[in-house]
Amino acid sequence: MNLHEYQSKRLFAQHGIPIPRGEVATTPTEAREIARQLGGKAVVKAQVLVGGRGKAGGIKLAATPDEAEERARAILGMKIKGLTVSKVLVDEAADIAKELYLGLVVDRAQRRVVMMGSSEGGVDIEEVAARSPEKIIKVPIHPFVGFRSYQALELALSLGLPRELFNSFTRIAMGLYEAFMGSDASLAEINPLVITGDGRLLALDGKMSVDDNALFRQTTLAEMRDVSEEDPYELEARRFGLSYVKLDGEIGCMVNGAGLAMATMDLTKLYGGSPANFLDIGGGATAERVAAALRIILSDKNVKAVLFNIFGGITRCDEVARGIVAALAEVPTNVPMVARLVGTNEEEGRAILASANMITARTLPEAAQKAVQAAKGQLGGGLS
Ligand code: GDP
Ligand code: MN
Repeated sequence: MNLHEYQSKRLFAQHGIPIPRGEVATTPTEAREIARQLGGKAVVKAQVLVGGRGKAGGIKLAATPDEAEERARAILGMKIKGLTVSKVLVDEAADIAKELYLGLVVDRAQRRVVMMGSSEGGVDIEEVAARSPEKIIKVPIHPFVGFRSYQALELALSLGLPRELFNSFTRIAMGLYEAFMGSDASLAEINPLVITGDGRLLALDGKMSVDDNALFRQTTLAEMRDVSEEDPYELEARRFGLSYVKLDGEIGCMVNGAGLAMATMDLTKLYGGSPANFLDIGGGATAERVAAALRIILSDKNVKAVLFNIFGGITRCDEVARGIVAALAEVPTNVPMVARLVGTNEEEGRAILASANMITARTLPEAAQKAVQAAKGQLGGGLS
């Protein structure tokens, strides 16, 4: 789950990180009122969950409250990378002398949380990483020892910060680490962290990603979730406890188990197809959940065939088969379906599906090949 800029910055502020004064507006009039209270000069910033808002025209300076209203009118309702802007953050405009980057990520290769700093802030950090990787300084953090102030100091020195900013930088780095750890985050980023004209450090932008698996204990953060920004089918999937990620291929995959789902996608590719989604219906999937999963898969108009790959352990194949049949009764479709069921009650499961006019297979390679052929219209057995 990603937090909006204003949510991330408020969280940073709770950990002692200096941020500009500002408020969120949903109408141009509100934006003007906020700018007036801030004393006039403001920056109006689109709140959408994508990066590169600046380049897309979603961030504009305003010299007066009237101008802030005008900017807000232009930004509210605009589309950035497919997302409609419904909120803007109106911040006190900062006088920028230098833009830095400061971020925390989980580095899987090092198996550590790593703090990254760069004197090349403001722009995409991926760009800096590609163009001049030596300009990104990485500080791995020991999981038991945590982030220490000497590490912040080392980073400040490497970034070439003036000595009088060392204390302030250390507090910001420690605060970012606390915010990251305390939120079960997978990313916490300040880009840019600026040095102002009068020589202070200020976090102008903020970005945080929180691990979805921790939301049960991050209740305050879970409430901040902005569902209007998420794919409606991914939301529906979450409601039924399904792990679903939409992709752009033509073969819908319904699988129990994440590893099996990956293997299914690999085999689909191997035989010349392309998966339309990743979908893990989980263990012990009930007929109701299977039906929801099928509705979600079929809602994707690119889907030309559906491949069921079920390994019956706790999940009973006959229960899944009944779910598929129930779903088909609800969602009439001509899309051909291929099923491979193995394990607990597989015979019963296959019998139920065969009577529903589905293509069955005994092995995964066979199922994947049949699904690829069916998607190309080279195989009969579609439902009418
Ligand atoms: P992003 O493009 O989505 O990463 O949004 P940012 O919040 O990082 O803003 C992009 C750029 O706009 C920053 O790198 C700054 O150069 C500029 N910017 C943002 N806020 C201010 C401000 O208050 N004053 C000035 N002068 N520039 C700003
Ligand atoms: Mn930014």
